[in-house]
Amino acid sequence: MSEAGETNDDAFTYNGGRVDPGETANIRYGISETYLGDPVRIPVTIVNGAKPGPTVFLSAAAHGDELNGIEVVREVAHDWDHAELHGTLVCLPVMNVPGFLAQERYLPIYDRDLNRSFPGREGSTSARRMAHQIFTNFIDPCDLGIDFHTSTRGRTNMLHVRANTEDPSVDRLAKAFSSNVIIAGEGPTGTLRREATDAGVPTITVEMGEAHRFQRRLIDRALTGVASVLAEFGCHRDSSVHWPGWRTIIDDDDEKTWLRADAGGIVDMKRGRGALVHEDEVICTITNPFKEEADIVTVEAPFTGLIVGVLENPVVYPGNPLCHLVGLSSATRTAIEYERTTGRSRSDL
Ligand SMILES: [Zn+2]
Repeated sequence: MSEAGETNDDAFTYNGGRVDPGETANIRYGISETYLGDPVRIPVTIVNGAKPGPTVFLSAAAHGDELNGIEVVREVAHDWDHAELHGTLVCLPVMNVPGFLAQERYLPIYDRDLNRSFPGREGSTSARRMAHQIFTNFIDPCDLGIDFHTSTRGRTNMLHVRANTEDPSVDRLAKAFSSNVIIAGEGPTGTLRREATDAGVPTITVEMGEAHRFQRRLIDRALTGVASVLAEFGCHRDSSVHWPGWRTIIDDDDEKTWLRADAGGIVDMKRGRGALVHEDEVICTITNPFKEEADIVTVEAPFTGLIVGVLENPVVYPGNPLCHLVGLSSATRTAIEYERTTGRSRSDL
């Protein structure tokens, strides 16, 4: 990053190429080879602004069936006007190309998780070699980053940020994204956000919606978040940081739980993603195929809170998750109730 002067002197360089200030490049970058010996290439768009500023990566589909983020990254890269961009955008819409082609979460090579394989390593497993190629060329040179995900297949999430808020630069980034909900924590070893942050590139994860879909309203909210981050970090000088209306940061000390089924069966979910539920309110019932009254299991909220994640595929074994419920301060609860009664917000989309 160079802050001095009005022109950007920094080319973005990667193994085998460079993108000069004022240029945009669409690259297909080889990170592995298939069984046929053909290259496995990821799409990368580098937008190097004419003016100096930070280098920001936007990445998606580390899990190959999580599609919402792909559209967010593509629209930023190709639909936005970058004439006034300060800095550089590194856009990685599909990182897990083999998983994307198979429409699977994992790399379809022994079901390895690309998002547990960062920062990767030369001479290691296939997943770590791919992660290494992505990390060294396109993540490490950045100043900050946003990695987009969705819920696992069969479930859905409210749009929320996951971030290590104890790191001040990550905290700044997480708040700038302007989601209503931030779940604090450093994240598992091998995830892009944790490894990038540990390598000095503050990074957040954005979770939004469900796999296998483009969910337009969630995509639009995420685009608002990206614009807000670019304003906060000086990439877009004429736009402003967005305030989401209310915000709750969930950390280890807060009430939060995955409610799990204690009976196998078919789930009738009463409340959806983003719902505010009250203590003892019925969230769902679980029935058997005969809907026998005596066997109906009723699941109630153990505390008043917000449904951040919820099951969509309505079948469970005992132990399967039903919903992710997080507690709220009374001030936040009041703000949500106000928002819902005035209809001014879209946090429950
Ligand atoms: Zn994911």
